[in-house]
Amino acid sequence: MKEFQDHLLKSKRIVALVGAGLSVSSGLPTFRGSQGLWKNFNMIDLATPDAFYIDPGLVWQFYSWRRFNALKAKPNRGHKTLAKLSMEAASKNIEFITITQNVDGLSIRANHSKEKLYEIHGSLFDLKCTSFMCNYVDHDNFKNPLTKALADTEYEYDNTKRKRKLLDDDLDKEPSLSPQFKPVKEISESELPQCPVCKDGSLLRPGVVWFGESLPLRTINAIDNFIEYDKVDLILVIGTSGTVYPANSYVDRVKVKGGKVAIFNTDIEDHILNGEEKDTWGFKGDAAELLPKALEPLIGDIY
Ligand SMILES: [Zn+2]
Repeated sequence: MKEFQDHLLKSKRIVALVGAGLSVSSGLPTFRGSQGLWKNFNMIDLATPDAFYIDPGLVWQFYSWRRFNALKAKPNRGHKTLAKLSMEAASKNIEFITITQNVDGLSIRANHSKEKLYEIHGSLFDLKCTSFMCNYVDHDNFKNPLTKALADTEYEYDNTKRKRKLLDDDLDKEPSLSPQFKPVKEISESELPQCPVCKDGSLLRPGVVWFGESLPLRTINAIDNFIEYDKVDLILVIGTSGTVYPANSYVDRVKVKGGKVAIFNTDIEDHILNGEEKDTWGFKGDAAELLPKALEPLIGDIY
């Protein structure tokens, strides 16, 4: 840790790369955590442009549920550490950006500088117009529910039915504990979020990157510019192994130019933990707890 902190204090250009593990520390389940199912629908089938085209009401109910869960979660000390660094970097003569793969809005809610945050998979809280002719985006809209029709669709299970069922069951029989899914509503397009600019009933869609879509070009270009402009002294890899695209490409590009890597994750390869990977530190554990300690010499305590 000491060796890492010595390098940290000398670093003038720093990148943080954030993955799902940091949100798990806030109690937010990942796709994998719930077997990838929502009300018997495969989440992967719902997160596509085709699914939205075929049944926008269904897809909006899925995202309403995800927005609700993200809003219930609270930014943790890891988010707050990066937020504090983003706010204090300029006064410390440090150039700093955070690249996050998470769509849950927790970094923004931790008061991370908006200009220094790149959400490469978009955000559950951005709403984009679906019209090709329109580039309207509503950023960081934390309203819930978004429309009257979406109210009450954010709950996955029907708790009232479940309780009644348990009471009705004969005590001798084994009670059925399988929860009842709240049925998916039929919602017409006119009851879904619509573009205020087009005014022709064009739907707004969740501003996340769906399967089969490319990463947002302007965001990717801005990150490329930051990384290519000058040597990055340090890349913090947080809540991700950093071995999957695009995370691995950022790590590689920093290393090629002589920058160093620090990984904060519950899962780290042995040879990294043993210090056998050149210019790479591995800190195994909960990033929400490790990160504030690791960055304390630079930014002090976080509240
Ligand atoms: Zn529009």
